[in-house]
Amino acid sequence: MVNKNIYVTQASLPPFEEYIQEISDIWQSRRLTNMGEKHVKLSDELKSYLDVDNIELLSNGHMALELSLQALKLEGEVITTPFTFASTTHSIVRNGLKPVFCDIKASDFTIDETKIEELITDKTSAIVPVHVYGNICNIEAIENIAKKHNLKVIYDAAHSFGERYKNKAVGNFGDVSCFSFHATKVFNTIEGGAACFRDKELGLEIYRLKNFGIRGPEVVDGIGANAKMNEFAAAMGICNLRHIPEQINKRKACYERYMNQLRDVDGIDLNSIQAEVESNYSYFPVVFYDEYGMSRDDVFNKLAEQNIHARKYFYPLTNMFDCYSGMYDANKTPIALDISKRILTLPLYADLEFDVIDKVCEIIRKK
Ligand SMILES: *Cc1c(COP(=O)(O)O)cnc(C)c1O
Repeated sequence: MVNKNIYVTQASLPPFEEYIQEISDIWQSRRLTNMGEKHVKLSDELKSYLDVDNIELLSNGHMALELSLQALKLEGEVITTPFTFASTTHSIVRNGLKPVFCDIKASDFTIDETKIEELITDKTSAIVPVHVYGNICNIEAIENIAKKHNLKVIYDAAHSFGERYKNKAVGNFGDVSCFSFHATKVFNTIEGGAACFRDKELGLEIYRLKNFGIRGPEVVDGIGANAKMNEFAAAMGICNLRHIPEQINKRKACYERYMNQLRDVDGIDLNSIQAEVESNYSYFPVVFYDEYGMSRDDVFNKLAEQNIHARKYFYPLTNMFDCYSGMYDANKTPIALDISKRILTLPLYADLEFDVIDKVCEIIRKK
């Protein structure tokens, strides 16, 4: 048995002294929030690291999604997937829009681009696909569909910090790509997020919406929220960003250690890195098919007995949430429904001990 509790993720922190050094300026400036020096610095550094032209920092990834959808002034229906975190669906519903759920592909869990067009009606205004587990959606097909039907595309890129596809940085896809910098993600600002976008006017709208819709000292012409990233969060981001390449390398080593031991296990599916994708190794999901002989829940319980707490990500599907009871039919997204009952996300973070990985693999190998 592993002596301490092991969770699916563990927040990355910079060396303590480094953070203290970074925040010491704040005692001079007395500027704690409202787009101060740290906010500006992190914004510039992320623009460069994420290789995007435009970025707006926000208090969290959810507000990045919610305010991006609001800034686009969407109406009617939005096509999305139910195999995601609550935030994706909630951001649509909280904007008064109707989510229309498209199924996913069993191969990489992203939206099945071949099933999008049949869901488009004269009310459809946008598509919100998710780069789930850092797997990149079929951006070419989605872009073609969006162009053909005049739809906006807002990517939930919460899992894909720093990734590239065909050497293009992921934040450049769609009208907006939204990142999460939550404590549990590859890169964190404690809580935080960002929207990356093509159109500078749209960015200005997001900027205003994160600050109550204030346009000027005497003009408030938007019904905004308060979703500003504070200076302490931005300072954490500045520090964490310095260590990101090393953090991703350590994740990669964990990923490979899992892969090497689980690759030949019958009846399970591992999440292989897609072709032409530079991965951030954010998650290690495993799908347990009937041939494996044990159910997902059995494996979950066996791991828990050893103090290893894997997560049933993503289960239940968002279209099965109690708050949406009676509104959607999960049987219309059968692959997502089936995967949600079979998938387990294993612990994966930069400082995860190899011993724990070996123990997890031993259990899954039933040896
Ligand atoms: C984490 C996450 C979000 C929300 O981000 P927060 O920063 O926690 O608000 C949105 N979508 C997905 C897929 C996520 O995993």
